[in-house]
Amino acid sequence: MPRVLLLIPTRSYRAPDFMDAAAKLGIEVVVGSDARSPLEALNGGRTVGLDFAHPDTGASEIEAFARTHPLDTIVAVDDAGALIAARAARRLELPYNPVSAVEATRNKSLLRERLAAAGLPSPAFHVLRTSDDPRPAANALAYPVVLKPLALSASRGVIRADDADAFVDAFARVCAILASDEARAECGAELADRVLVEGYIPGTEVSLEGLLDHGRLRVLALFDKPDPLDGPFFEETIYVTPSRLPDADQRLVAETAERACAALGLVDGPVHAELRLNADGAYAIDIAARSIGGLCARTLSFGTGMSLEELLLRHAIGADVPSFERQSAAAGVMMIPIPAGGTLRGVAGVATAEAVPLIESVTISMHVGSRITPLPEGSEYLGFIFARGEGPAAVEAALRSAHAALRFEIA
Ligand code: ADP
Repeated sequence: MPRVLLLIPTRSYRAPDFMDAAAKLGIEVVVGSDARSPLEALNGGRTVGLDFAHPDTGASEIEAFARTHPLDTIVAVDDAGALIAARAARRLELPYNPVSAVEATRNKSLLRERLAAAGLPSPAFHVLRTSDDPRPAANALAYPVVLKPLALSASRGVIRADDADAFVDAFARVCAILASDEARAECGAELADRVLVEGYIPGTEVSLEGLLDHGRLRVLALFDKPDPLDGPFFEETIYVTPSRLPDADQRLVAETAERACAALGLVDGPVHAELRLNADGAYAIDIAARSIGGLCARTLSFGTGMSLEELLLRHAIGADVPSFERQSAAAGVMMIPIPAGGTLRGVAGVATAEAVPLIESVTISMHVGSRITPLPEGSEYLGFIFARGEGPAAVEAALRSAHAALRFEIA
């Protein structure tokens, strides 16, 4: 039985779905997490605490663990573990993407450099230090632009600015986000004092879920994002698959994503890519060496009911993948946006929302009593609404009706 190290930080939504898939496959799983358990030494190597904030230390910890519990493969379930996995895999000579490729997915300025150098459509970009005076840059830029931290996620700190004054305000806001201990830990000290500024790319945004095998990208699903993402903040809401884009556009998206992966040096495993399409072509906005985040993977089912997690684990251990075909129904998810900051006092209307035709489930992931923070400072969702049905338009409409039935009391 192969032994798989699954890297799952405590704040990940994905532990249960990966664990279910592993149990189904009968794989021996070790969970590597940022939570250290005093019982670790007693649990027979089923968990290992790792330093997620310092990928090199985390990789050394994996190397030490593997001396007593040999590993066959490492799977990082989200961004936080990708670099640790790559470094540990290199030391243990396990198959994985090259470290330099994964580094480029974890550093948005390096990503821009590599994509531009490979001749992919790219916006102008440059990097400021958080200690810089933003005025000289503000006066020299061609607007609109987007400011973003180098290594945060879920659109946190991503702000569009349309003129110099808005730029100066946005810069201060991104710097304030980057000043928190928790954001510094997520970015890593090296990247936390920098802000990427890039040209705003207009167009239609899609999200591609794919699997690389020897550098070839197989598209597992292409999601439309039917809500406009024009800024100034970029809150993810609805994802619906299959895409309603013309076939030629879908092909262009897939080709561009594959070229982007090649430019970074990614060759194996899951890819989650955001791209924008406009009259000039397809632009890669972000490329991540992991699968889709949150609980969104629950929209996907392959062959006769295989989950995305099962498909990825099968790929990771080199087992047969019986089908890469997504089940034919349209499917969608709404990441429930945070309407206002404060304390979540109550949620009503869940049963009504779940009763909307085509709605499969409504999951509220924030607990009543917790502090909630909207974008650009926050990075969480109130929850997820899932729908499945005949076509993407009907699925999208069902998600909107279900959302309209929900009431959030925020004090
Ligand atoms: P994160 O990794 O935090 O999600 P991204 O770089 O993917 O950050 O940006 C989040 C969202 O912001 C994108 O999905 C897109 O909607 C928007 N965005 C980011 N950069 C640009 C850009 N240069 N032009 C237009 N929109 C952008």
